Amino acid sequence: MKRLAVEVRGIVQGVGFRPFAARRAMALGLAGFVRNTPSGVELECEGPAEACGALVRALQEDPPPGAVLFSVQARELPPRGETGFRILTSGQGAAEAAVSPDLGICPDCARELFDPADRRYRYPFINCTACGPRFTILEKIPYDRANTTMAGFQMCPQCAAEYADPFSRRFHAQPDACAVCGPRLTYVEGGAGTCGDVIGRFQRAILAGGVVAVKGLGGYHLACSAQNPAAVRRLREAKHRYAKPLAVMAPDLAAARALCLVSPEEEAELLSPRRPIVLLKKREHCAVAPEVAPGNGRLGVMLPYTPLHLLLLEHMPPLVKTSANLSDAPMPYRDEDLSRVLELCGAAVTHNRPILRRMDDSVCVFAAGQRRLFRRARGFAPAPVPVRTGGAAQAPQLLAFGAQLKNTFCLMKDGRAYLSGHMGDLDDEETLRFFRRELPAFLALFGAAPEVLVSDLHPDYASTRLAQRYAAEHPGTRLLAVQHHQAHFASVLAEQGLEAAAGFIFDGAGYGTDGTSWGGELLAGTAARPRRLGRLRPLRLPGGDAAVREPWRAALCAVADACGSEKALSLFAGQDGAEPLLRLAARGVCAPLSTGMGRLFDVFAAVAGLPPRVSFEGQDAMALEQAFDDTAGGSYGFDVVSGPGGLLEFDWREAVRCAVADRERGEGPGVISARFHRAAAGLVRAAARECPDLPVVLSGGVFQNLRLLESCLSLLEQDGRKAYANSLVPSDDGGICYGQAAAAAALLKE
Ligand code: ZN
Ligand code: ZN
Ligand code: FE
Repeated sequence: MKRLAVEVRGIVQGVGFRPFAARRAMALGLAGFVRNTPSGVELECEGPAEACGALVRALQEDPPPGAVLFSVQARELPPRGETGFRILTSGQGAAEAAVSPDLGICPDCARELFDPADRRYRYPFINCTACGPRFTILEKIPYDRANTTMAGFQMCPQCAAEYADPFSRRFHAQPDACAVCGPRLTYVEGGAGTCGDVIGRFQRAILAGGVVAVKGLGGYHLACSAQNPAAVRRLREAKHRYAKPLAVMAPDLAAARALCLVSPEEEAELLSPRRPIVLLKKREHCAVAPEVAPGNGRLGVMLPYTPLHLLLLEHMPPLVKTSANLSDAPMPYRDEDLSRVLELCGAAVTHNRPILRRMDDSVCVFAAGQRRLFRRARGFAPAPVPVRTGGAAQAPQLLAFGAQLKNTFCLMKDGRAYLSGHMGDLDDEETLRFFRRELPAFLALFGAAPEVLVSDLHPDYASTRLAQRYAAEHPGTRLLAVQHHQAHFASVLAEQGLEAAAGFIFDGAGYGTDGTSWGGELLAGTAARPRRLGRLRPLRLPGGDAAVREPWRAALCAVADACGSEKALSLFAGQDGAEPLLRLAARGVCAPLSTGMGRLFDVFAAVAGLPPRVSFEGQDAMALEQAFDDTAGGSYGFDVVSGPGGLLEFDWREAVRCAVADRERGEGPGVISARFHRAAAGLVRAAARECPDLPVVLSGGVFQNLRLLESCLSLLEQDGRKAYANSLVPSDDGGICYGQAAAAAALLKE
């Protein structure tokens, strides 16, 4: 006889871990108990030594699908002669256990949903310990029903019996409910709501070409048929979103396959409990309206992730699903937001289970053999990301505030970073309000009291000011600022566990240590103190931020720099005000310098003849990537020369001259795109030779360009270099907070 006390840490609450452990223990004939603790799950078991060992192995090797184990530690206790195995109520104390992300509907619940004999047949809120809402309904820890937005729903006797039965899939499933006792759907149209035939009304409206809002896990979406061009246009007009690609929800995997090519790893990701949007390669005859993702070779596809979605999409075409907001605003998620949502469309499918926090859909793509996240939110947040650089495991609790755009923040403790969902652009007042509300709520969920705060170096980022204010309000905390591209750099080092590297950080903009805008940098060294070895030849951005929306402005100056003013003015003769702009820029008036590679992509896009004005940052760069003509040979080239201050300068002037000559010869964007992409990858290869002994890391938003990413990685590998890019956090500013935390931890270690 033996008695073991076992402590399990990780995401083990709200994923059915206790019933799983109890069932295994009982099957092995063991006595004892299991309970949630502030740090995870604690279990004691008593019985034959062999059975005790088998239970510990089962916990480690075969945990339930939503569980993520950090550690399993067992120690021996004297046996007490206990009989029976019990599940005890939660222990009290400071909360430290990791919170589970929301989990997409599991196969068992999906089967019951469509089983006429099941008592939850067609009940849109069916869930169990393996699936359902988690983070989006959780107010505070421990994860008990009373602490979720399900608190207001009193369980019926049948649900209560399942909840209490250790052998039920719904044992302690906090959001458990049924049609008798749980949340209900309402169809709202023309100021009136009805509970009758909500699914049917939705489907008829969609098939008639309508746009209908749907309350999902993390907010309101707009939906319309992806096959109806007029409906898609209406949806775009409602959102004032005219250019950005839209994502599609396919009814099932077969429907996704009919639209796009799906590799085995893409299939696994689509079906995983995370259910992100996966950017798949479109089939040649992809049966969605061209308006969904115009001019794009890929289509963002996701599968239904709630029972409600399964019902809404049954026997339906693929639907466009996009957040129910005006173009740049955050997604509405509270019930009081419904009236605003209804201003965008005529009708909504809603329900009475409140959403506690906004959570956008996650977006990923598979490139160069790995999953790359473009947006890390639903299904991922707030699961931890390991920080594998030196100093992280010993660092005090750290809170990193992220960047201005695509903001996320993160808490780092015990070598793990807990990232918030996608907050969005802090230029937006409403996003800022959400940030202020969410930050303390998030810290409370983790029982955190950060000692070190980390911000960007940019004095005008809202996130920087929030960090400063937090520091002022919490005496005893220490505030560190980490340069933007150092954070991008550190993010790859921390993912890969590299102590030092050479890093190409190709980005839109970030505040440099010299106060100018950076973004085409070669950094080398450790996460704590990388040296800036090289940078792009600075570009003039006439009108500053206006140049981001009007790529022709930067192109005008770049062409003038490379070929002279006359050539520049003749190339952009069609643009109003080109001449005065150029004259002012020549004197440095209203034309800040930038070394941003994102801006250089804009320049080549404009030279290639792509639209001189865009509606979102990087639109032209994206169009340039899409224009890439595989059949076009040749490459432009960068000159790597020594510039001021001992920096290498990546001089693009010869490349611009060649591109202008190509344009004048009548070559289209496809050829210019191919030759410029090859030049940029060639630059990385050549400049990497300056640091022959270091592994190479690639980060920054520009590396969401898959052409560039894949060709850089493959050229570096051809040269026998070890090369890495982000895969656990986005390479754009959505991953900045993680890099800030890693860089700060490395600095503190020194
Ligand atoms: Zn389930
Ligand atoms: Zn019930
Ligand atoms: Fe950035």
